[in-house]
Amino acid sequence: MKIFVVNCGSSSIKYQLIDMKDESVIAKGLVERIGIEGSVLTHTPAGKDKVRLESAIPDHVDGIKKVLAALVDPNHGVIKSMDEIDAVGHRVVHGGEIFNESVVITDEVLKQIEDLSDMAPLHQPANVSGIRACQKLMPNTPQVAVFDTAFHQTMPPVAYMFGVKYEEYKDYGIRKYGFHGTSHKYVSGVAAQLLGKDIKDTKIITCHLGNGSSITAVDGGKSVDTSMGFTPLDGVLMGTRTGSIDPAVVPVLMQKKGLDAAGVDKYMNKECGVLGVSGVSSDFRDLEDAAAKGNERAQLALDMFCYQVKRYVGAYAAAMGGVDAIVFTAGVGENDIHTRQQVCAGLEFLGVKLDADRNNVRGKVTEISAADSKVKVFLIPTNEELAIAQDTLRLCSK
Ligand code: AMP
Repeated sequence: MKIFVVNCGSSSIKYQLIDMKDESVIAKGLVERIGIEGSVLTHTPAGKDKVRLESAIPDHVDGIKKVLAALVDPNHGVIKSMDEIDAVGHRVVHGGEIFNESVVITDEVLKQIEDLSDMAPLHQPANVSGIRACQKLMPNTPQVAVFDTAFHQTMPPVAYMFGVKYEEYKDYGIRKYGFHGTSHKYVSGVAAQLLGKDIKDTKIITCHLGNGSSITAVDGGKSVDTSMGFTPLDGVLMGTRTGSIDPAVVPVLMQKKGLDAAGVDKYMNKECGVLGVSGVSSDFRDLEDAAAKGNERAQLALDMFCYQVKRYVGAYAAAMGGVDAIVFTAGVGENDIHTRQQVCAGLEFLGVKLDADRNNVRGKVTEISAADSKVKVFLIPTNEELAIAQDTLRLCSK
């Protein structure tokens, strides 16, 4: 069975074609600058050279059409016909309170997904466009939606409610939803296997640290709390996002900087985080280079990030009444040796003991805690595309 995994952004489409026989990626690629001058499709067939195909790509339907053409192309294609694609798995950012797991997309489901656009105005309409494009071009192929929020729907009200009037929750859905759910679910599942335990008997803290970062408490395989909230702006400071700040700062910023609601939202999402604090970059590699050369603001941004992640680890160990394993994943979590070291430093009281040699690793499944560490610490590369394909396969083989 071959599954086409699609992740649509407002002007981009990321895709993979995965052969579920051995879970291998047969082809992957990226369409960029949809609807903007300079549209380009970069297509990488397994075992062959990457091809760059430049042409006007006015919308998502045209983008998907060009991706499908690349997949069956006699030169750089990987399948003979589109009929070889058995199902399509779509990453959808918001499932609201409706979707607590992945679903096969029907007309009713698509309407519900579209109705949730207010919750994620930048991403959800792009996800809907991607689904419609695939439905149009592959009308007989089943389509599945996999939601970023679904895994966190198991959080109890004490974790997901905010201290605003209850009416606002009822009328506007204002509560914590959490994001990166596909990743937290995937890596916690791998961690349980590495612990050699049934996931039901485990307490795991998953740290998805990338350009966007979130930390989740996974108790018995279920998300019981997570650091991102109503939107992916909440939690730890990130590449360009503030993370949690005193909410009273927002009206002050609006006044002082003359920003309206949209302006302050953009400011907090795009100009802040480690970029805003350091004035250097949102990329941790640049920050580490700058800090090594004595840039104090770059060092401060890195220190703040590690401190805030550590604070969540402590909070979630308390929330679960213990922790068996801590997982690091995503761009920073998988690659940044210093960050992992600094987050774990000082957590010995909790039973966490990192092994410096084992931690000297990047991008592969590794137990990085010392042999006598009570709490295991793992580096587990995330694989959201594979997780989406696995859910799609499960739902389509029913
Ligand atoms: P992601 O959003 O998961 O793709 O993560 C992207 C981020 O990972 C980049 O912005 C970098 O900050 C970080 N990153 C990638 N490689 C490294 C590395 N070798 N060392 C430190 N940070 C890295």
